[in-house]
Amino acid sequence: MPRHALLRRPALTALAATATLTLAACGASDAGAGTTTSAADAESCPGEVLDVVASVSQWGSIVEQLGGDCTNVTTVLASSAVDPHDYEATAADIAAFTDAELVVLNGADYDHWAADAVATLDPAPAVVDAAEVVGIEGEEHAEEEGEHAEEEGEHAEEGHGHGGVNPHLWYSPEYVQTVAGAVTEQLSELSPDAADHFAEQAEAWEADLQPYLDELESLQSSAAGRSYAATESVFQYTAEAIGLTDATPEGYRDAASNETDPAPGDVAAFEAALTDGSVDVLVYNSQTEGSVPEQLRAAAETAGVPVVEVTESAPDGEPSFVSWQLDQLQQLSNALGGGQ
Ligand SMILES: [Zn+2]
Repeated sequence: MPRHALLRRPALTALAATATLTLAACGASDAGAGTTTSAADAESCPGEVLDVVASVSQWGSIVEQLGGDCTNVTTVLASSAVDPHDYEATAADIAAFTDAELVVLNGADYDHWAADAVATLDPAPAVVDAAEVVGIEGEEHAEEEGEHAEEEGEHAEEGHGHGGVNPHLWYSPEYVQTVAGAVTEQLSELSPDAADHFAEQAEAWEADLQPYLDELESLQSSAAGRSYAATESVFQYTAEAIGLTDATPEGYRDAASNETDPAPGDVAAFEAALTDGSVDVLVYNSQTEGSVPEQLRAAAETAGVPVVEVTESAPDGEPSFVSWQLDQLQQLSNALGGGQ
């Protein structure tokens, strides 16, 4: 399940610190998921108020905005101290799904604990699975769907690989908008009298998103001909959207996405790339720490390669997808501007 647990430094509990790196965050559920709720304003809602549960805050914060006065939104995994890739749901997390009328999941095996919880519900709630909405499938789906199953299954056993699927869908401006559209559609279907309200909320959300889209567009010119390397894959969809070339050495990238430890040679190749000028910026996931990423960061700093910090989910206390993302993009803009 974890895509990059191997790179992680046990951070949360003394117990985890004694575990192997790959299992580092298994104790993380002790820290709690930081479940949050946002309540509807029933008096202002022109239709039926809906109970919505989002698996992770990356989608939960967007759903809150789209639902406006007409949704009670529970976000199960809302603490940035918890790694979603490694997360093991508690009984309370699973119970949070019980009365949901709509569940919003990331899918692509990112939050399979949530998909598993939803599968047990009777009656089944409506589900927006972001990966399904954008046409990306995780390994479990591939296995269920026959033809690919044997190949994928074998591959999966070796490295619990995700069939090459990058699950960080909220880092794609296109996917974010597509998924938001699907959420609005479901909300309107479930509470038709509130459809106008949901349409207004969607319009307001799109307006809020504009500065983020503008920043991406302006980054396209500064990213032209430039390259980045990344300690892991979280930023990949955004980098693709702005046309920044991925210069992460292949061996390292493959190891990170197959959840195997990068070989010393892969790490050395990465350090060499940082030193020889072939990388314009290092994208560093500060939410996924580990000795290898730290070593790479130090190498970048020594070589004068700017480091841009990104996070898997919005930092605690940052409820807005847009301001979270904008902050990162502005760091990137500065890094690219300063590196010329
Ligand atoms: Zn991740």
